[in-house]
Amino acid sequence: MEHDERLDVLRSLPKVELHRHLEGAMRLRTQWELGRARRINLPLSSPEALAPFVTWSEGEPRSLKHFLTKFRGDWWGSYKDVERVVREEVEDAAREGVVHLELRFSPENLSRTGKLRAEAAMQAVAEAGQEAGEEHGVGVRYLVTLVRERQDDDLWRRFIDHAVALHELGVVGVDLAGDEFDHPNHEFVRAFERVRDTGVLGVTIHAGEGTSPEHVRSAVELLGAQRIGHGLEAARHPGVIGLLVEKKVALELCPVSNYQTGCVDDLSAHPLPQLDQAGVRVTLNADDPAIHRTGLLDNYDVAVSRWGYLLDDLLRLERNSVQAAFLDEPARAKLLEKVEAGYRACAGQGLNGGPTDAPSGSR
Ligand SMILES: [Zn+2]
Repeated sequence: MEHDERLDVLRSLPKVELHRHLEGAMRLRTQWELGRARRINLPLSSPEALAPFVTWSEGEPRSLKHFLTKFRGDWWGSYKDVERVVREEVEDAAREGVVHLELRFSPENLSRTGKLRAEAAMQAVAEAGQEAGEEHGVGVRYLVTLVRERQDDDLWRRFIDHAVALHELGVVGVDLAGDEFDHPNHEFVRAFERVRDTGVLGVTIHAGEGTSPEHVRSAVELLGAQRIGHGLEAARHPGVIGLLVEKKVALELCPVSNYQTGCVDDLSAHPLPQLDQAGVRVTLNADDPAIHRTGLLDNYDVAVSRWGYLLDDLLRLERNSVQAAFLDEPARAKLLEKVEAGYRACAGQGLNGGPTDAPSGSR
C-alpha cells in the first residue's frame, strides 16, 4: 500500500489523543500573526522566516534541551488569542480523525506575558475547546501542566483549585513536565498529593524521557501517576515493566517526538512494540505536532511502516487509550463503542505493513 493511500486509511480511523500540548500544536501561521501583533523579538517577515525558531527540522541537534527552546510562552495578547488557538487545534485534531482529545497546557505559560490572568486563561481554554469540540465532533478534555523548573507552591495550589472548579467544563487531570534531570520526582510529592486529594483529577507525569527507568518508577510510586508521558526508559528494566503492567499504568508514547528529542536513534528500534508485547498499556500520541511539523497520523504510520502493525494492533493501542483516558465509566464505554465501530467500518481496507518511505520529519 502506498504512503498516501495508507494515510487515508489511518485518517479514517477514530483516534484517541492523550498527549498533546497546546503550546506545541499552534499553527505556524497563527504563531507568526500573534508574534507580529505582539512584536516579539524573532524574525517575522514571513511564517517561514519564523519557522526555524519554533519548529524542528532534520539536521538540528536531537536533544530535549534543544527541542524545548522551540516551546515559547510569549504569544498571548488577549483571551481571544487563546480561544482562537484552541479552536484551530481542535479543528486540526478532528481533521486527523481524533474523536477524543486531551489537550494539556501550562496556565503559567499562558499568563507569562502579563496580559492574561492564569485562572481566566484556563477558563478561556476550556470554553473555547467545548464549543469547537461540539462543532467538530471531538470530545475535548484538558490537563493542566505544571512545569518542574517553575515550582511555586502557592501558584500551583491556585491552579489545582481552579482545575477542580473547571472540572465540569472538562478539566480532568494534572501533568508534570520539564527537566527531569535537575528537578526529579521526589521534589513534587506534596503537590501531587494535593492533586490526588481532589478526587476528580487524574495524574500524568512526563518521566523516563531520556533519563532512566527509576524516573518512571518514582513517578508511579511517589507521585501516583496513572499515566506516564513517554516513559520509554522503562523498556530497559524488567522490574519497572512489571510495575507498569501490575498497576495498569499507561505510557503516552510519541515516536516522532522521541526521535527528534534524541530518545531513540532509529524509529524501527523504538521500544513501543517491546513494551506492547510485555503487556504494558502503550498508546500512540502526537506531543507537539506544530514543532515536529508532522501530525498524529505520522505516528500511526510509524507503527504500520516500521513495526508492521496491522489494523488489529492499532485497535489494541486505541483500546489502551480509551482505558487510560481520564473519563468517567459511562463516557468511556461510549468512546469504546465509537472506536470499535469505526475500526469495524475500516476492516477490509488492507492495512498492511512492509518497508515504506519514512514519514516526514523523522528517520
Ligand atoms: Zn509532552
